[in-house]
Formats: sequence, C-alpha cells, structure tokens
Amino acid sequence: MSKSIDDSVSILPYVGEKRLEALQQLGIFTVLDLLSHYPFRYEDIQEKNLLEIEDQEKVTLKGNVVSEAVVSRFGPKKNRLSFRLVIEHAVISITFFNQPYLKSKIVAGEELAVFGKWDAKRKSLTGIKILGGGSSEQDNEFESIYRANKNIKQKTIFNLVTEAYRNYHELIPEIIPDFLRQKYRLVSHQAAIYAMHFPASEEQTKQARREVVFEEFLLYQLKMQVLRKKQKLIGQGTQIKYDVKALRRFIESLPFELTAAQKRVVNEICKDLRQPNHMHRLLQGDVGSGKTIVAAIALFAAANAGYQSALMVPTEILAEQHMESLDQLFDPLEVRVALLTGSTKTKERRVILEELANGQLDVIIGTHALIQEDVHFARLGLVITDEQHRFGVNQRKILRDKGKEPDVLFMTATPIPRTLAITTYGEMDVSIIDELPAGRIPIETTWTRPKNFEHTLEFIENQLKKGSQAYVICPLIEESESLDVKNATDIYEKLTAYYASRYKVGLLHGKMKPAEKEAVMQDFKDNKLNVLVSTTVIEVGVNVPNATTMVIYDADRFGLSQLHQLRGRVGRGHKESYCILVANPKSETGMERMKIMTETTDGFVLSEKDLELRGAGDLFGSKQSGLPDFKIGDIVGDFGALEAARQEASELVNQPDFLTNPAYEELRKAVGVDNLAGLNFN
Ligand code: ADP
Ligand code: MG
Repeated sequence: MSKSIDDSVSILPYVGEKRLEALQQLGIFTVLDLLSHYPFRYEDIQEKNLLEIEDQEKVTLKGNVVSEAVVSRFGPKKNRLSFRLVIEHAVISITFFNQPYLKSKIVAGEELAVFGKWDAKRKSLTGIKILGGGSSEQDNEFESIYRANKNIKQKTIFNLVTEAYRNYHELIPEIIPDFLRQKYRLVSHQAAIYAMHFPASEEQTKQARREVVFEEFLLYQLKMQVLRKKQKLIGQGTQIKYDVKALRRFIESLPFELTAAQKRVVNEICKDLRQPNHMHRLLQGDVGSGKTIVAAIALFAAANAGYQSALMVPTEILAEQHMESLDQLFDPLEVRVALLTGSTKTKERRVILEELANGQLDVIIGTHALIQEDVHFARLGLVITDEQHRFGVNQRKILRDKGKEPDVLFMTATPIPRTLAITTYGEMDVSIIDELPAGRIPIETTWTRPKNFEHTLEFIENQLKKGSQAYVICPLIEESESLDVKNATDIYEKLTAYYASRYKVGLLHGKMKPAEKEAVMQDFKDNKLNVLVSTTVIEVGVNVPNATTMVIYDADRFGLSQLHQLRGRVGRGHKESYCILVANPKSETGMERMKIMTETTDGFVLSEKDLELRGAGDLFGSKQSGLPDFKIGDIVGDFGALEAARQEASELVNQPDFLTNPAYEELRKAVGVDNLAGLNFN
C-alpha cells in the first residue's frame, strides 16, 4: 500500500502499543495529526554574553570544561553534579541536581554548551540540560516545547515529529487555495510545519504561525458554514408543539420568579421551538445568571410535545449536578430523566440505552458518553450543550446527528463581546441573560501575596466559624497534570494540619476516579467537608450556595475568564462572599489581571478587558483557555485572521463551483465528504 499522510502514527519507528496510546491521549492518531501537534512554546536557547544575563534568566552558555565533574550526595536520594566552565576568561560553576549520569558527558578540556538558570550573585548556572559539544548538531536558537503527558516525553515527541517530517513532508496537503495564499501572503503549509517544529528565527516562526492559524480558522469557519448552508437547504428543523398552559404551570411551579432577562430568553427560545425551522441559538449568561433553569424550561417543553432531549455537559460533576436539580424540578410522571456518563454501570447503561431507543426516556443528561455510537434516540428533538466551548465542532455534530434535524441550544458562561461571538460561532442567533437574580451580593475580591499565607488561612477560618464553606484552588501547571496533583496534595496537607480537628478539609483532582470525585463533591455539598482543596476540575458550573470563600493560588497564571469562572463558584447564596487571589505576578499583564479582578465582577466588562490585554497576541507566550478549542489559533489575539477566514469561507461556500473546482479538492477533503453530502448548490 502506498504511503499516506493519514497513515496511523503506529507506522513510525519506535511507536509500540504504549506510545500509540500515549499519542492518542494527546489527540494524535495520524501522521498529519502528529505534524500538526505544534509546540506550545519555544525556549530561547541562544547564547548570551555573561554581562547581559539577568538573575534567574534561562540561558545557554558555551565554554570549555576546566574541571572534572564531581558528584556529591546529600539526603537519602539527592545528589548534585558540579563542574567548572571557562567562558571568555570568566570561570563559572555549573550544577545539575539528580542527574549523576551526565558525568560521562563532561570531559575536561572539551567545549560544552549548557542550558540552565543563571544565578547572578553566585555567578553560577543551575543546569537544565546539556546541548552537546562545540560541534553541536543543535544549531537552532529556539527549542520546541510540546504538550506531553506522563506516558510520553517531550523529547520523544520531538524525535517522532522529526521522523514523520523526514518521511512524509512531500505528502503534507496544501489546503488553502492558491489565490488565498497569495492574497494573504502565506508560506506553504509544508514550510509552515517545518518552521513550527524546527524554528530558526522568531520571524520565520511568526510567518509559519500565520499560515497554520489561518488554515485552522478557515477550516473551522468552512465546516460551520457548510453545515448552516446544508441546514438551510435541506433541513426543515423540528416543530416542538408543546402545550402552552402546561409550560406556564411548570414555570409557576419553580421555586423562584424568573428574572426579566430569563423571561426574555425563555420567550426567544420557545418561539424557536414552536416554529418549524431549525433552532441554532447561543445562550450567553454570566456565571450564576441562571441558565440551568432556562434549559430546564426548554427540556420540559420538548418532553411535553413528545420529543426527547439531550443535555450534554463537559464534566461528570456537572452532569451529576444537573441531574440533581432537574430531578427536583420535574415531576417524574411528566418528564422522565436519566444520567449517562463514563462511570454509569454496564447494566444500568444497557437499560438507559434501551429506554432512549424505545422513547421511554424524555431527557438524557450526560458527558461525552452521549456521543458513543450505540446511543440511539427514538425522537431526538432538542440538543442542549452546556459550557459548549468545551466541546469540539465534531462532537456537537455527532450528538445532533443522532436526531433528525433537532433544535440546538448552546449555553456558555464565558461572556464574549458580541462581534466576537458572531464571528466565532458563525451565523447563529444569540440570547443574552444580562442580569443576575435579585439579592445577590457582589463578591468582594482581594489580591494578596503568597507570603501572607497564614493571614489567608485565618480569614478562611473566620468564614468557617459562621458555618460557611471555602474552596482553595491550586496552582496551575501547564506542562503536567501530575504536578497539579502534587501541588493540590501539598496544600491539602498544609490545610489539614492547620485546621487540625477544628475543620474538615477535602481534596479533589483530575487523577481521582469518577466515583471518588463524586463522593468528595457530595460530602462538600452536604457540608461534611468545610474546605475543598481542588485543581481546576471544579472550574465549570459547580453550584454549592453555602460556599462563600474562593482562594485561588498562583492566580496570575489564569486568564481573566477562567478566574471569573472560578470566582463564580461563590456568591451563589445570600451570604457575603469573598474571592482571594494569591499571586506574585511576574509580568505586567499578570499584575493588570489581578487589578481588574479586584475592580469588577461583570463578566462582559472582564471579557472586553481580556480582549484589550491579549490583543497584541503573544507568540512566545502560553496559550490561554479560549473559547472553541483551537489547536493553535487564539480567537482574541488572532481576531483579524478569524474575521478574514470567516469572510473567505463564506465566499467559498457560495461559489457555484465549490463542489467541483479541482483547486478546492484538498479543501473539500479536509471539510469532510459526509459534511458535503446532500449539498446542492444550483
Ligand atoms: P449558571 O448560569 O451559572 O449556570 P445556575 O443556573 O447554576 O447559573 O444558577 C445559579 C443559582 O441561581 C442556582 O442556585 C439557581 O437555583 C439560582 N437561580 C436561578 N434563577 C434564579 C432566579 N430567577 N431567582 C433566584 N435564584 C435563581
Ligand atoms: Mg451552568
């Protein structure tokens, strides 16, 4: 068989079963996936003059080794390897911790380049890695840093990418049509992929990034617009004819009066439901604005009209919680609800699938488990996705395709400026809940330095004394989930020791089994735990109104919208609530973010500020959690490219020869043949 860029990565040398699995966990299945797994940042490893280096800066130093390497041990499992290097007549000392095996690479009299962290006072370098001798094969000034996981290392990924590039570069598809490549002066995709992985200069990587970002945006926009066009051409949509009186009774039975904003969006949604055409609506509402109840009303209406609905959410915790609230709202004789997640027991799952397929169930709530192949519906009429930016376009499409043109409602708590919303989500209708339920007291936000740790603990304790509960969110380590867990465990132990027998502390992190997570969450909800130490797994949607304090460690590492989400976990009841940001910001924007957080609790204001702060687009910085999950594009920083891609996609789709012109062949392939099926442009 001939080689194809869509070959499985298992075809590459040294990819056995274990590596294959590790790669798949990173979303890498084919050679093209691997080549599109771009570094998320680059480390500057150019050599520098000793005098120019700042304290604690990471640099590469090259010089002559003038001493043997000495390994000394301290503590039971620790050791240090030291030697001296002469650079332009200066002698500096270099230390590596716990890497005694490097000794053989250090030969007195030979030239050596070392990458490490500079200590200006001691004139010494704490080594991070050795970059080979004077005749180094490493002549790039930047090193690519990849998203990796515990089963596969950075270096391995880099080696595999190198191998894949060597063997497959001629097969890299050029998706962007030539006329657009010329118009936007984009390098070829092959050149871009090369420069992304093997960067030679900042400028070259910048050009490469422009190309891959544009390609990603163009494809995204095109897929959406093709879908829209298809729906308009062939889709009749679903007409959900519920009984107006029954719906009114249901709304009156709710434990509270809807806010004016909720009433308005309920009307917008219900109007869409009743009409025969297709609902394709985005519901935006700040954290705590009460989107769940709006969803419940739509679900009720669908069930009343004899249709089934699916509510898809990104985490099990959230699914559980929705299940709980809907259980309280719905009369089981009127609306039958079930929960389906990855941890649903096989037997129970079988029953649920059967009842979904034969129409006995009205509403199914669940995680990605809902898009499994064997999930079938009798009459799926409405699909709602909560925190929809957590799902890819394809995942949402799979769910939709389980029905016959069901109505679709997306919900998001990440407020984004309207122009951005329309560009990002295509031509969908937008409903906005711009008002919080009455009686909410604004959350008081303060920013403190980590050295005031004791103070923070005392503050929390004062809240606990009043019977309230607290969250403590742990630092975010971008590179490694296991470090996240370690941090969380450390803080958990500190707090447990500090509050001793007075208060109970719980721990929640992503590595726990779903059942364990659920048990901890339940204990926190039941007030059996006073403090919950957690990684960001609780970021979305969790609702425990008795929690009044939110402490966020290393807050400057989070983006504004994520901080806002986290802060939104408190202030959900009638008690005064607090958010304490613990940070030593190292950058000006970090500082600015802390300031903005203390000044406003309005999600829309925050999103505008976020746009301002991130507008410059920071190529060598790290990627923040954005809205749709783009691999590389940043909808804020690359807004111009996104707009352009939308414009071009719309023109492409409307060209009469879009389906036949050979110039668009790669483009059509990338959009997916099944997406194009049923389209007839003439
Ligand atoms: P979000 O929009 O963040 O998903 P939720 O739907 O979880 O918000 O609602 C937050 C809290 O506000 C819940 O405890 C919910 O019961 C309550 N709530 C929603 N609507 C109202 C309302 N109109 N009046 C009073 N409380 C409400
Ligand atoms: Mg919600």
